[in-house]
Order: sequence, then structure tokens, then C-alpha cells
Amino acid sequence: MSVTVGFRCGVCERTYGLDEMAWRCACGGVFMLEGAPSFKGTASVSDLPWSLWRYHRALPVVGSGESWKQISLGEGLTPIVRDSPGVLLKLDFVMPTLSFKDRGSVLLVAAASDLRVRRMIADSSGNAGVSIAAYAARAGIATEVFVPSSTSPAKVSQLKAYGAVVRRITGSRADTAQAALSAVQETRAFYASHVYNPFFYHGTKTFAFECYEQLAGRLPDAVVIPAGNGTLLLGAALGFAELVNAGLVERSPRLFAVQASNCSPIGKARGVALPGFTETVAEGIAIPSPARLDEMIRAIESTGGDLLVVDEDDILRARTVLLARGIDVEPTAAAGYAVVQGWDRDDPGAVLVALTGAGVKSPRAR
Ligand SMILES: *Cc1c(COP(=O)(O)O)cnc(C)c1O
Ligand SMILES: [Zn+2]
Repeated sequence: MSVTVGFRCGVCERTYGLDEMAWRCACGGVFMLEGAPSFKGTASVSDLPWSLWRYHRALPVVGSGESWKQISLGEGLTPIVRDSPGVLLKLDFVMPTLSFKDRGSVLLVAAASDLRVRRMIADSSGNAGVSIAAYAARAGIATEVFVPSSTSPAKVSQLKAYGAVVRRITGSRADTAQAALSAVQETRAFYASHVYNPFFYHGTKTFAFECYEQLAGRLPDAVVIPAGNGTLLLGAALGFAELVNAGLVERSPRLFAVQASNCSPIGKARGVALPGFTETVAEGIAIPSPARLDEMIRAIESTGGDLLVVDEDDILRARTVLLARGIDVEPTAAAGYAVVQGWDRDDPGAVLVALTGAGVKSPRAR
């Protein structure tokens, strides 16, 4: 299979070839993918491989696009289990590196590999870097990952184990991104950014295709997703939109973005009174100024969803409740579950909560 894709700026519409290695438009706008295939129902599904690559006909690849066959770790096709009446959980941490980020990383690294990239730089609050490091190891691409010094030791040790060079940056998540960018400019390495690179979102869109198949076409009324940079939220929005455009479902589920009340850029953009930006136990969504904030707001508003904010206590309590049901997730993932704990649903519609990261990534306080 060969599909020609390029980047298009979401602001000024300028187009770029992939071989230009740009990560953002000269105008500062973020890229969308142009010419990417989309989901068309059973014609887009292969019985094999038994992974998210069963949708490979609906996924963008570069050139002859063969690298994924070497680097795939069987990611995707994560379980959906029933929690209580009307509440479904998608265990999206049942992944090779124990977070949903593998959906996006495998596409991003496959694209880099098909572009003959030899060196990459990534920045991450943890899980995206871990995931990129794993696929980079498989692809034989030397990778440096910049993380905030506050990142969980478990994630740092995962990074090192995969052979990535780890740069721990003192200061905020934004300082970490800035340090990575300076290094990209100095070394001319490929910027393997899960935030800026649209391939990542075409990987996370498989979340929606799986929901469609696993639930036999009966999508839940609402989908709840913890959102920092919005890579799962936006990928899910893209995937559900493809299902609607193909006439497979009538409408997208309402998408609910979950943020910590301590760090809610969507709330801030909407003028909601919140404590202001401080730390949160949900480190995976501690992103004060996401690059695709406008897209995130559009994704929730266009589907009739909303922002939901949760307190620190609610997050920790939700983690404990899940454990008592045999499900061990990190606090960021528990944030999504926290909202359905106190959810007063005005209709009996079903809700599906994305559980995004495994518990071993973040040790519990005793
Ligand atoms: C990265 C991450 C999130 C948030 O994803 P974004 O792309 O930043 O919205 C949520 N949960 C976990 C466990 C994560 O690693
Ligand atoms: Zn532009």
C-alpha cells in the first residue's frame, strides 16, 4: 500500500512535504495531515494483523510505508469491560508500554523510519516519551527524551531501560518543551513530537474504530477522556468523525475532556473560576498551555460534550475504588473515572471511560 500524505497548516493552509521535516508552520500554526485515508467500514478492516494495524487501510503511512511491520508490538485492541450499569471502561493501558500513547507512537515512529530518520528528540511528561523510546529502540533510531525533573522515577527508569538518552529539565513542562526545541534546532534531529506531529493523532483515532467494532456498532452516548495535550481526545474525535462521515453511525458520542481543577487550560479559556495553575497528582494531564487548545475545545463542543474538572481527593479516591475492582491505574487515568463516580446523568445513556495509564507507573503513597 502506498499513500501520499503531506502537512497542511491549520491556520494559513500552507502545505508542506513530509521530507521538509518541518514540525510546525512558519506562521506558528499547527499541522493537520493532508491526503490521509479514512475509515470506510469493513472494507477498511483486515483480519490480520491482530493489532490496531487491522485498520492499516485507514491509516497514513509514508512512501511505501513498510516500517510498521517491523516495529509494531501488537498494540491496540484493548479490552472494554463493564463497570456498573451504563458505565464501560476501555482499558487503554493494556499496551506494550502500559499507556494509550502506543497508539500514536507506533505511527509516528513508523513514519520517521520510512523517512529514514536516524536521530530523534522527544519531550514528554513521561508516558509519550516512554512509548516513543520503545518504538525507537525497535526501529533502531537513536532517541533523546526531555522530561520535567518531577516525572515519576518509574517512567524515567522505563525510558532508560529502552535505551533513550534522558534529559531531566528543572522547571515547568513548558521549559522542558523549550529545551527539546533548542536541541532540535542545534542538532537538526527529527522532532518526534506527539503534540505537533499529526501522525500521532491518526494512531489514536483507532480508539474510536475499536469502540465501534467491540460494541458491534452501538457507540456509547458519552466518552470520557483525560486531556492534557489532547492526543487521545483529538484522535478519538477524528476517529468518531470518520465513522459518521462513512455513514456507519448517526452521530459521534459526546466527548468529555477531564482535567484537574488544579490545571485546566480549557476551564481557563472559558473563564471558569479555578484555583490557578499548580501541581496535580494527575501528572499526565498537567499541561497548562496545550498547543491544540482550540481544537480540543472544538472537539468537545461540536459533539455536545463538555469539560469536567476533578479535585485531587476525587482522583485519589477513584484510584482506590478502581483497585477494589481489580483495576490498577495511575492517578491521571483515575481522573477520568472520578467524574463518573459523581456523575448525575440526566439520561440513561451509556458512558465509556478511557483508562489511559497503568498503576505501576506511579507508586501509591502509603
Ligand atoms: C498522556 C496521558 C494522558 C493525556 O493525554 P494527552 O495527549 O496529553 O491529552 C492521560 N493519561 C495518561 C496516563 C497519559 O499518559
Ligand atoms: Zn501557517
